[in-house]
Amino acid sequence: MTLHRRQLFLPLVLLFLLGSALWWRPARQPAERSRILMGTVVEIEVLDPETAQTRSAIDAAFAEMARIEALMTPHRPDSDVSRLSSSAPFTTPAPETQTVIAAGAEIARQSAGAFDLGLGRLIQLWGFVDGTPQRPTDADIAAALVGVGPGDVVVSNGQVKKSRPDLQLDLGAIAKGYAVDRAVDVLQKAGIRHATVNAGGDIRLLGDHDGRPWRIGIQHPRQPQAVSATLLLSDVAVVTSGDYERAFDIDGIRYHHLLDPRSGLPARRCQAVTVVAKTAMQADALATAAFVLGPVDGLALLERLPDVEGLIVAADGKTLLTSGLAERVQWP
Ligand code: AMP
Ligand code: MG
Repeated sequence: MTLHRRQLFLPLVLLFLLGSALWWRPARQPAERSRILMGTVVEIEVLDPETAQTRSAIDAAFAEMARIEALMTPHRPDSDVSRLSSSAPFTTPAPETQTVIAAGAEIARQSAGAFDLGLGRLIQLWGFVDGTPQRPTDADIAAALVGVGPGDVVVSNGQVKKSRPDLQLDLGAIAKGYAVDRAVDVLQKAGIRHATVNAGGDIRLLGDHDGRPWRIGIQHPRQPQAVSATLLLSDVAVVTSGDYERAFDIDGIRYHHLLDPRSGLPARRCQAVTVVAKTAMQADALATAAFVLGPVDGLALLERLPDVEGLIVAADGKTLLTSGLAERVQWP
């Protein structure tokens, strides 16, 4: 008896289907949760198998971020930041607030004042945070900059010291990163090994993605639907500061929320800066610092610091990379 081709076809197809069924593993359903916190959408994705324990760990991570927000927001009169900003003497905030201020003061030092924790008055004046953005007068800007400059906010012997009693603090460029680190710490202590926490572009990656690096798309600063690069990363933080996040236009001029403490005006030399570092707090503050410094000094700062990498899109659209990032970047 001879087998015709058509008689062979069906058994082969069945064999193929059986083979693929044996190789098929159910795709892991990541547990994904999001909440509005710190003025942005915070997403937590956990790859470990979902159990009652992972679910409560995610809730605890969000609760920890809310606790940090309550300490560091300028929008509540009883927050550490509001109390430190008032002229009444108050120098001993919660240890977490001290940690963030001490780290911010260090980045202010490293960036020769491009990063500044004393911009509370100036930031309020521009209205980016409370939703009524406006171009302030030069006189108002000058008044808001009184007392601002290198060393204006420091922590010494567990006390926060300001250059003047009426100097107002703003931790908006660093507190979100710290909150992301705290959330990751909570997840990790609950035994979770593979997760991401993303607070509106402040991202920390815990472990890897099924044995491979996570693929992090960096938003194109001028094309909202496009990525300018994809970074392949594990177990690090990756944070982007861009001039497109909070901005408004008057007479064709873009005003945005990343302010140069020397002029009180939006910094003009970059479109976006992405920083990769061990903690989201450091990456957050450095992204803001490098943005204000501009592509040349900003890149030099990121190169100089150990365990820090970065990608800068300059004002002319050119992209610059630190040397350690070259093998971890894919272009679109
Ligand atoms: P980010 O989202 O991390 O880029 O930080 C932006 C926020 O940081 C702004 O909304 C301000 O609250 C604050 N900020 C703006 N310019 C500076 C600066 N030069 N140094 C420190 N904080 C700043
Ligand atoms: Mg920042």
